[in-house]
Amino acid sequence: MFNLLAKKLLNIGKKRGGKKPFYITTTLPYVNAEPHIGFAMELVRADIIARYQKLIGRAVFFNTGTDEHGQKIYQKAVEAGLEPQAYVDSYATKFKALIPLLGISEDINFIRTTDRHHIEAAQEFWRRVDKAGFIYKKQYETKYCIGCELEKTDSELEDGRCPIHPNKAIELRAEENYFFQYSAFESRLQELYAKNPNLVVPDFRFNEIKNFVKSGLHDFSISRLKTKMPWGIAVPGDEEQVMYVWFDALVNYISAIGWPKDEAKFRQWGVESGGVVQYAGKDNLRPQAGMWQAMLLAVGLTPSQTIVIDGFINASDGQKMSKSIGNTISPHELVAGFGVEAVRYYMARHINDFEDFDFSLEKMTEAYNANLANGLGNLVSRVMKMASTHLAGPVSVSDQSIPADFKQAIANFELNKASNIIWAQIGELDKKIQTTEPFKLIKTEPIKAKAIITELVVGLYAVGQILEPIMPTTSATIKALVKANQMPTTPLFGRKD
Ligand SMILES: [Zn+2]
Repeated sequence: MFNLLAKKLLNIGKKRGGKKPFYITTTLPYVNAEPHIGFAMELVRADIIARYQKLIGRAVFFNTGTDEHGQKIYQKAVEAGLEPQAYVDSYATKFKALIPLLGISEDINFIRTTDRHHIEAAQEFWRRVDKAGFIYKKQYETKYCIGCELEKTDSELEDGRCPIHPNKAIELRAEENYFFQYSAFESRLQELYAKNPNLVVPDFRFNEIKNFVKSGLHDFSISRLKTKMPWGIAVPGDEEQVMYVWFDALVNYISAIGWPKDEAKFRQWGVESGGVVQYAGKDNLRPQAGMWQAMLLAVGLTPSQTIVIDGFINASDGQKMSKSIGNTISPHELVAGFGVEAVRYYMARHINDFEDFDFSLEKMTEAYNANLANGLGNLVSRVMKMASTHLAGPVSVSDQSIPADFKQAIANFELNKASNIIWAQIGELDKKIQTTEPFKLIKTEPIKAKAIITELVVGLYAVGQILEPIMPTTSATIKALVKANQMPTTPLFGRKD
């Protein structure tokens, strides 16, 4: 009896002493095109946050994957003369290839909405929303953008077209479908927003969704007739209908962590974590911060913790990147040109955290030369050259606590600011070399010079340590060089012309 009680107390102590688990996910992109640079950036950003959380000792579940149902995909498969499953299989492989390409954490979970366990979860989710009384059937007419896979009201259209997909005709639909009673969640969503001031980042996106909900929510269709669109998950109990793609795909955020079958796994990542952190593009604001939160409320599940909305990456002239214009830049091209570490660096530090960004190779080359070839790379060479020449052996170093301003920036998902803090440290070390000139001082005051070199090595190690989430390979290289007291055999970042 006593032993049992003691054991229980011990377990409680363990839990309290331990850190909260952390669950982060990207959006699941549609598999109707090659992976683009915007999604690559989202994956890198989420990876930086995931790596940081691991660095501070939290258990992390990191999720990505592919959204594989819906009309847009069905049409593309038909155009390509492929069975939809064969079509989505080939694209899932292309999206999976981003993981090694971009140096993403190897333990990332990759979910496909055509996975058996996801299909079962989406159907169970439907049943529970239905049981709770929020699903009904009706005959209706609507305007629909296949590009967005969303119904559109006239106020959302410009000249009768979707502003995000001006090349796609708006489809008029008239059929009998199932509806989700979204309108029942107006005040509950407003309460949720009021109670969770960090639910959507940044603030201007949070205001956008708050205003949208305040202006009134309309019930939306959550199924299609199978005869018109066969590529979807079957509606439970109705052979003639398949589920609307968003109503299926959004469920991935909980099916990925075991819902509904694996209760322990779901409790750890979905409840004890305080809810999922979702990275998403601005076109996902309404589905993720509105629809999905209402769906969770409908079945009594924990709302998301934070939805981080990043901007779009446009071509250098501000135009949308598109295949037909021929101004796209693929993640493969970027990594081939600059290396994966430089791509991660650029995405973290230079591409805006939340606003749209005009991308140009010239600007990226400039930043690469100034801050990687010269800045960081040069600093590593200079410090380690002095250290390996003048010090008797490796400087004893240990991991330092992470600076408070860096922690705060990461907590706000301000990766531009977080990386600026690292480059400010790099600048300080450069300045220290310039003002103290230990390479000259070594001839006249060797003890003093060696002390300065030692300080520089300690500072360089701290830079290496804090770089880990953003540039994991460079971080490991710097730490290894310091511990071996060696200079790099070739510069870490060769100049680009
Ligand atoms: Zn659209």
